[in-house]
Amino acid sequence: MIPFEKLTAPTRLYINGEYQDAAGGARFDNINPATGQSLGEVAKGSAADIDRAVKAARAAFEADSWAGMAASDRERLLHRFADLIEQNTDALAALETYDTGKPFGDARKIDLPLSVQALRYYAGWPTKLRGETVPVRGPFHTYTLREPIGVIGQIVPWNFPLFMAVMKLAPALAAGNTVVLKPAEQTPLTALYLGNLINQAGFPPGVVNIVSGIGTEAGEALITHPDVDKIAFTGSTRTGQHIMRQAAGTLKRISLELGGKSPHIIFGDADLKSAMRAIGAAIFYNQGEVCIAGSRLFVEKPLYEQALEAASQAAARMKVGDPFAEDTRVGALVSEQHWKRVDEYVKLGVSEGATVVAGGGPADVGGRGFFYQPTVLAGVSNSMRVAQEEIFGPVLSVIPFEDEAEVLSLANDTQFGLAAGLWTQNVGKAHRVARAIKAGTVYINAYGVLDAAVPFGGYKMSGLGRENGEEGIAMYTELKAVWTGL
Ligand code: NAD
Repeated sequence: MIPFEKLTAPTRLYINGEYQDAAGGARFDNINPATGQSLGEVAKGSAADIDRAVKAARAAFEADSWAGMAASDRERLLHRFADLIEQNTDALAALETYDTGKPFGDARKIDLPLSVQALRYYAGWPTKLRGETVPVRGPFHTYTLREPIGVIGQIVPWNFPLFMAVMKLAPALAAGNTVVLKPAEQTPLTALYLGNLINQAGFPPGVVNIVSGIGTEAGEALITHPDVDKIAFTGSTRTGQHIMRQAAGTLKRISLELGGKSPHIIFGDADLKSAMRAIGAAIFYNQGEVCIAGSRLFVEKPLYEQALEAASQAAARMKVGDPFAEDTRVGALVSEQHWKRVDEYVKLGVSEGATVVAGGGPADVGGRGFFYQPTVLAGVSNSMRVAQEEIFGPVLSVIPFEDEAEVLSLANDTQFGLAAGLWTQNVGKAHRVARAIKAGTVYINAYGVLDAAVPFGGYKMSGLGRENGEEGIAMYTELKAVWTGL
C-alpha cells in the first residue's frame, strides 16, 4: 500500500498547461470513503475558473496548435500519454482507491488497462479520420470533410473517475478538439494528476484543461458557457435531462451516458455453471456502482431457488474490506450520502414486500468508512421501486419468470435501456431475445465486458449518442459537405 502522502497528488486546477489556484483560493474537502477521513482540500472551481479554462481551450483551438498538427504527430502524443499512464499505474490506482474506496486490485487490473486501451485505440484514429467523395448529379465535384467541433466540455462521474475521464478525452482529442474536463467532486484526484502527464507527453498548452469543482457550480458554468460547443456527459439521468434543457439556449451538441437498471436473464437451458458464476460479478463488482450493473436478475422458474442460492452465496463470499487488502472484493461506497441512499433503497424494498436473503445492512470494517454488505432481495416484482429505480450499489433484485414472452416484457418494462445479459444455449433464442431487448449493449453468455472498439451507450433514458468505436469519434466531429462546380 502506497501511503497517501507519498503520492504527491496535484490538488489545483490544470489550466493552459499549468496548475493554478481557483479564484479566491476556494477549496473543498475531499473524503476517503474507506475511513471517512479527509484526504485534504482540493481547488474548488467556480464560473470564473471555468471561463478561464474555456478561454484557454478556445485559444488553443483557434491557434490550430492541435487540430493543425500532423495527424501522425497527434497519434504519437496520444500514445505517449498512454505510455505515461501505464508507467504511473501504481500511483494512479492507489489514488483512485483512496478517492473512491474501490479495491486497489481492481483499479490496477481493470480501470488502468481500460484507460490505456481507450487512448491507444483512439490514437489510431487521427490518421484514419477522413471524408468521402460523393457521386452527385450535375457538373460538380462533391466531397465531405470531418472537422473537429471546437471546445468540448466533459463532465464525468465518480465510479470510474480515471477511466471515464480518459475515455472521454481520447476520442475528443483524436478528432482535434480541445477540452475542459470536470471530474466529479467526490473523486477529483486522478483527473487532476493527468495534467502532469499531459505536460510530460508534450501536448500544447490549453488543449486539455481540468477544473475540479461542484456539479451545480463548476459543472453548471461549463454547460451554460456560451463558448463551449459540445457537452459530453456521463452521470445520472436527472443531470442529463438538465443538461439537455440547458444546452438548448446555444444549441450545444450533447452526448449523454446515463443511468441503467439492466436485466440479467437466466433461461432454463443455460450453461448453469457459467450463468450462476456470473450473477455475483454482474452486480457486486465495483460495489455495484456500475452503470451497466445487472441489478435485475430474471430467472426462469425451475431454476429460481438455485439461482437465489447462488446469488446469496456470491454475496456472502464477496469479502468486504479494506480496499488495499489483497483479498477484498468489495470496497467502500463513495460517500456517506450515497451509503444512506443505498440503505434507504434496501429498507424501501422490504417495505414494498421484498425479503432480504443476503446482506441488507452496513458491513463492519473496523467501525469506519462507508461499507455496505452485498445484498440480495427476493420476492421482488418488477413494478417495485427497487426494480425500477437505479440504486447504484451492491443490491440485487431476483425475479422469477415463466417464459420468453414474459421475461421480454419484464426486461423492457423500464425507463432505462443501457445493457442486458442473457444466458441460454439455444442460439436462435439468444439472438431473438438480443434483438428484442431495448438496450444499447446485450451480452449473450457473458456479462460486463467492454472494449474501446465497441460502441457503448443507452436506449431510452439511458442516454443519447454512442461512445467508443467509430461512432465514438464521429460524435466529436462536424461533417462538412463541399460542392465544387466543374
Ligand atoms: P450526477 O449526475 O450527480 O453527477 C455526475 C457529474 O455531473 C459530476 O461530475 C457532477 O459534478 C456533475 N453535475 C451534477 N450536477 C450538475 C449540473 N447541474 N451541471 C453540470 N454538471 C453537474 O451523477 P452521479 O450520481 O455522480 O453518478 C452516478 C450516475 O452516473 C449513475 O446514474 C450512473 O448510472 C451514471 N453513469 C453512467 C454511465 C454510462 O456510461 N452510461 C457510466 C457511469 C455512471
